[in-house]
Amino acid sequence: MAELQNSKKTYTLASGDKIPAIGLGTWQSPKDQTINAVKSALQSGYRYIDTAFAYGNEEQVGEGIRASGVPREQIWITTKLDNPWHKRVAEGIDTSLKNLGVEYVDLYLMHWPCSTDPDDLQKHLPDWDFIKTWAELQKLVGTGKVRNIGVSNFGIKNLEKLLNDPSCKHTPAVNQIELHPKNSSPKLVQYCKEKGIHVTGYSCLGSTKLEIYKEPEVTSVADQVSKRIGKEVTPQQVMLQWGIQNGWDVIPKSVTPERIAANFALDGWSLEKDELEKVTSLGATESKGKMCGDDWLPIKVFFGDDY
Ligand code: NDP
Repeated sequence: MAELQNSKKTYTLASGDKIPAIGLGTWQSPKDQTINAVKSALQSGYRYIDTAFAYGNEEQVGEGIRASGVPREQIWITTKLDNPWHKRVAEGIDTSLKNLGVEYVDLYLMHWPCSTDPDDLQKHLPDWDFIKTWAELQKLVGTGKVRNIGVSNFGIKNLEKLLNDPSCKHTPAVNQIELHPKNSSPKLVQYCKEKGIHVTGYSCLGSTKLEIYKEPEVTSVADQVSKRIGKEVTPQQVMLQWGIQNGWDVIPKSVTPERIAANFALDGWSLEKDELEKVTSLGATESKGKMCGDDWLPIKVFFGDDY
């Protein structure tokens, strides 16, 4: 297989815009470390930052971008509409743009298919749902404030509901979903592909709980590749390469400059078929695992239809 140059690799969205293969995640990045993490990522070569209103660090992401010296137009910025803002989409994007200190974002996602009541976070709004939220998001297209709109945490059932609704004029450009070797969601990924929806993989390293980097299916592949190419490849790099070769972009989060650089250093090698399969085998039923569930939301959004 030809060697991949992942630092330059992009995926083309339905709009023709090109989303980079590797971005920096910022969920749980403390405010006081976010500026430096973003600056360090951009100076290491990243051109893509993933944030969200809900992460509480959009302002620091903006500061990090400005501190990096990299021109804004060279950077892909994704941010997300928070659940209690579903009735206030115009206000939501304006707030995020102000926080970030930019005039537009490259991708604006509905963070979850759940329209939470802002006055009682335990309740779903009785007169609203994600179909109505999408109708509001569609109004942003052409305003110059967003280059693309998309969704996140949508499974097949909710995507079907959205795409089949007569109010849906724009197919979501992207579905950002949990994807790592313990949750590879092949049916959902295939469904998105068939509908022309690009996929972004979140918690691509297994996040803070799943400890996938310790699993023999991943460590043995890291050892095998290291021997083959004559330089050390880590389990984390194997997981990122696995995601990119499967066709989705990856957004590893780190606030540690050495790790930020390592997660971007994926050029010049690739996983062979048997290595990809070995990593995928970790998602066999008994070893499946997820970081983000829906038990904290007022409604169920995952229906186990992704496999
Ligand atoms: P990740 O899978 O990116 O894992 C992050 C953890 O891995 C942190 O503890 C980090 O530590 C550590 N880490 C990162 N790189 C390395 C490395 N090279 N070696 C060892 N450890 C490493 O988890 P996330 O859940 O944060 O997912 C990534 C991003 O996806 C989020 O930050 C967010 O942007 C997005 N996301 C979106 C969601 C959605 O609902 N749309 C939900 C969840 C995530 P440290 O920082 O201390 O270096």
